[in-house]
Amino acid sequence: MKTYIRILEYVKPYWKHLLLSIVCTILFALLNGISIYLTIPLLDTLFQETAKKEVITQTSTVNKTVAILPEWIIKLKDDVSSSFNHYILSGDKIQSLFNICLLVLISFLLKNIFGYLQAYFLAYTENASMTDLRDDAYKHLHQLPMSYFKQERVGNLISRLTNDVTAVQSSISATFLNLIREPLNILVFFGIAVSISWRLTLLSLIILPFIMLIITWIGFKLRRYSTRIQAKMADITSILQETISGVKIVKAFSMEKYENRKFMDQTHGFLKLIIKVVRIRNASSPITETLSVIVGVVIIYYGGILVLQTKVLTGSEFIGFLLAIFQLMPPIKELSSVNNRIQESSAAADRIFEILDTQPTIRNIDKPAEVKYFKDSIEFRNVFFHYEDSNEQILDDISFKVKKGEILAFVGPSGGGKSTLVDLIPRFYDPSSGVILLDNLDIKGIDIGNLRRLMGIVTQETFLFNESIKNNIAYGLTEFPEEKIIDAAKTANAHNFIMEMPNGYDTVIGERGVKISGGQRQRLSIARALLKNPEIMIFDEATSALDNESELLVQEAIERLMINRTTFVIAHRLSTIRNANRIIVLDRGKIVQYGTHDDLIQNEKGLYRKFYEMQFRD
Ligand code: ADP
Repeated sequence: MKTYIRILEYVKPYWKHLLLSIVCTILFALLNGISIYLTIPLLDTLFQETAKKEVITQTSTVNKTVAILPEWIIKLKDDVSSSFNHYILSGDKIQSLFNICLLVLISFLLKNIFGYLQAYFLAYTENASMTDLRDDAYKHLHQLPMSYFKQERVGNLISRLTNDVTAVQSSISATFLNLIREPLNILVFFGIAVSISWRLTLLSLIILPFIMLIITWIGFKLRRYSTRIQAKMADITSILQETISGVKIVKAFSMEKYENRKFMDQTHGFLKLIIKVVRIRNASSPITETLSVIVGVVIIYYGGILVLQTKVLTGSEFIGFLLAIFQLMPPIKELSSVNNRIQESSAAADRIFEILDTQPTIRNIDKPAEVKYFKDSIEFRNVFFHYEDSNEQILDDISFKVKKGEILAFVGPSGGGKSTLVDLIPRFYDPSSGVILLDNLDIKGIDIGNLRRLMGIVTQETFLFNESIKNNIAYGLTEFPEEKIIDAAKTANAHNFIMEMPNGYDTVIGERGVKISGGQRQRLSIARALLKNPEIMIFDEATSALDNESELLVQEAIERLMINRTTFVIAHRLSTIRNANRIIVLDRGKIVQYGTHDDLIQNEKGLYRKFYEMQFRD
């Protein structure tokens, strides 16, 4: 219930639309009732030989039997029906027929107009509020730390923002419609039924709940399965997402069969569930219908006796009653499923709220320091780090200081902690203990946006968005004169190949026929960093081998990028470590050597020497 109330919070801003929808719903229900009422005089006019006066007297006789209704209602009903009859049946039969047909036409027309409006306003409410929910969840995702995205499967997150939001959405309408329209319908039809014959209504009330029980039970079954179906769909989305983004690996390892089987296991599990649901759902209507017929037959038999023997009821009234009582069934059935729908949507909503409730662990303190420039130095002081989900010490007592303008290179065996270390500088992760200081300020006290704006980051995985080359280079910058973009591209040795593309700087990456090589990607991301012109550069050199020409162009671009910048670089190129002012050799989270290339190379037993000989000798 708590979850449901939280869903309603999202509906609140759209209360005006909802209110209009409710008003239309009320009018719709009333007109629905009127259209049933109209069948009585219609049948009378068509089939009854008796004069209109008799009809009026007969109706009143019946009303006298409605002892359980308060006096004023009976009077009101008498007044209404007699003035109604007066109007309708005032002329000859053909005139009456015309009047009734006109009324039927008008009431149905109005009913449908209100039905449409009610559906429109409700759809507006539910779609707008779910758009807000989805937007909130998306915005919140951007607040969450890197570690969150490592823990959660991407497909699962996508599924929550798509399938689950849709599930919540569809049940909002269901519950709102059901909670307002159905009770109203019930009230109207019940009112009609009682006003026609309280005895028959009483009889129906005794046997109807019996059917309701069975229908409720079926609804309960269905609900249980639908939650499982939703979860299965999330699994399927995950697999899809993983294999599509990892398609190259799947092919390289010839894992198509394995992946197909994995996928099919899931889809078949899904199919099984769906079939179960289909079986229950499809069995439910024959069962309901059979039961309804039994009830119907009992009512018809008893009603028939009332008409034929005791004559407390006219034939046309009896038909009006049957219409009302059978119209009463669907709303009751719908109403009994409201709880199910609430449960269903709550399960989906819980998965969305789980995202919203995840606290961003890396966030600004109250009143963070505004830092616009980097002036002096960056220092690691006794920094330890382990990932949240493991106890393995990834960084072990790291201390060093970099002066503004220096280039610091990290080398060491893979898994030594180099990437983790540089991830701490823009606060992708926070140290488990120890501090990182920027100009002697703990970076945890600096506004995160400010901190990251000081830095440019070029990683091995150059991510390009499905946008124009121009926008990709200017990513994250609001004002970008074209000349500056071109300048950056030129400095990054990217201008020439960009100009050869079909639409130059306006070529959209990811479009058909646009092919970008690994070296070109690297140069684009260097251009991106150059345009941002950060004071601090964090750079994870790509290990992938490039052809000679590309290598040369990339190297040149990298060197230009490092000029006049404080640079942290995970180095894989000889030229880079030669350019570095200091080198840190990192092994199993510890700094094992520290110094310039010339110093370190002297130590014959040192890891650096070994490493150098292995990796950079050529
Ligand atoms: P390097 O960059 O030197 O190759 P990394 O910093 O990438 O080293 O990794 C250091 C260690 O941290 C490795 O043992 C790796 O398995 C582990 N590691 C990296 N990322 C995570 C993560 N998100 N969760 C848990 N362990 C991780």
